[in-house]
Amino acid sequence: MHLRFLASDELGGRYTLAPNFAIAARYLAAHLEAYGYRGVGDKGGFLQSFDVVSIRPESAKSSLELTFGDKTGTYGLGDFFLSRSGTSGSAEGQIIFVGAGISSSAQKHDDYAGLDVKRKIVLIAGGTPAGIDSSRLAENEQGEGAARAHGAVGVLQLAQERYAEFMRDKSFQERAAQRETVRLAKDGEGALPALTLGPDLADKILSTGGMKLKSIYEAINEKDSLKPKVLNVSARMTISVQTNRVTTQNVAGVLEGSDPQLKNEYVVFSAHYDHLKTSPKGEIYPGADDDGSGTSALLAIAHAMSLNRPKRSVLVIFHAGEELGLLGSQYNTDFAPAIPLNQLVVDLNMDMIGRSKPPGDQMKADEHLSDGKTVYLVGSNRISNELHEISEETNSQFQRMKLDYYYNDPNNPERIYYRSDHWNYAKHGVPIIFYFDGVHVDYHRPSDTVDKIDFNKMTQIARLVFETGWRIANLDHRLKTQ
Ligand SMILES: [Zn+2]
Repeated sequence: MHLRFLASDELGGRYTLAPNFAIAARYLAAHLEAYGYRGVGDKGGFLQSFDVVSIRPESAKSSLELTFGDKTGTYGLGDFFLSRSGTSGSAEGQIIFVGAGISSSAQKHDDYAGLDVKRKIVLIAGGTPAGIDSSRLAENEQGEGAARAHGAVGVLQLAQERYAEFMRDKSFQERAAQRETVRLAKDGEGALPALTLGPDLADKILSTGGMKLKSIYEAINEKDSLKPKVLNVSARMTISVQTNRVTTQNVAGVLEGSDPQLKNEYVVFSAHYDHLKTSPKGEIYPGADDDGSGTSALLAIAHAMSLNRPKRSVLVIFHAGEELGLLGSQYNTDFAPAIPLNQLVVDLNMDMIGRSKPPGDQMKADEHLSDGKTVYLVGSNRISNELHEISEETNSQFQRMKLDYYYNDPNNPERIYYRSDHWNYAKHGVPIIFYFDGVHVDYHRPSDTVDKIDFNKMTQIARLVFETGWRIANLDHRLKTQ
């Protein structure tokens, strides 16, 4: 039984940076090989390795000094937070507010127009003004990349609105000051020292330009509503972090299609096989549902496909680093795709498909956990209506589950469409469906264990995903997009 192996104590919760994570990878690779798949990772093997960097802030050595007129104040971690790039370094200069901080000639938007930010520190509000497609912005057209391209020496960022309140919380601040963040390693990046301002400090700085954080949040997504401004305050920032570079891996294999032409197109099935770090007290997070369920189902689907090859090829990919910020799928899309993205017809991604709400369960945390016959689908109609129709039709012919689109509402606060690996494919225009059982009380807890899995439901979803993928793999045309 795949799930009992993957969620075992011996695998320790499958944390991407843990040494025994590679054992899970070997297990998946060995099965794909046995099913007759061809490796599309490194050197024709199944492991697609990539480097990540883990970053720990060094509180005592990190500070921000602000000078307003003749007054100088010093601030520490908690007043601000480290940004994801987490580079050690220091910078000194006047602060210039640059609105959304986007500079894209292709999209005819330049927040830096007419500004001289050379040797200055820029303050970026973030957000995406109306009319900008953030998925088409290159690295040097936004955020730190754009700041560096314009000669800035440091970056201050405003927190996203939905995090601003948490940041006032002392225990949040303490945890953030300890927290390990992990990102993909990039070579020769020369990132700028950067940090995210807590809401109080942000207001203090913004007030020197007659602005308020609250009004910036209101204006952030409107077109041209945030005007750049030179602020009457200068900063000296010193950031110190410990970094540790680790190699990890996705597991990827291809089953070649039976049609000589159509085999150049790929139906992708995906799940993430990583989960969370064992706590300092030794508590293991088995991640039976998240995403042991999707991983086990993916093995079963890979096997079933191999018994009767479809016309198109099948790419099965188990992503690593999902819990750290969709890193494995980011690597396979933004950095070095195992198969060129324009050959991918669809991605069917499963993450948490093994739980159902027990009868009589009144817990608030289980409010949106689906029952044994229901599965949430997210994204099926966003890129290809035809995909949505095929998915609905396939279900009504075979599994007859209840397909629930609650989390597909663009206004749903959980923003699930952006929260698992399918998003990295969708942002490149690959049609996707995400299969999900809903948030529940054991989510990201040591209690996400195998005994709570509804195997009957998990099997039904795996069959639905298989049948939907099978149909798309044998279509006489490529899925229409729009
Ligand atoms: Zn997950």
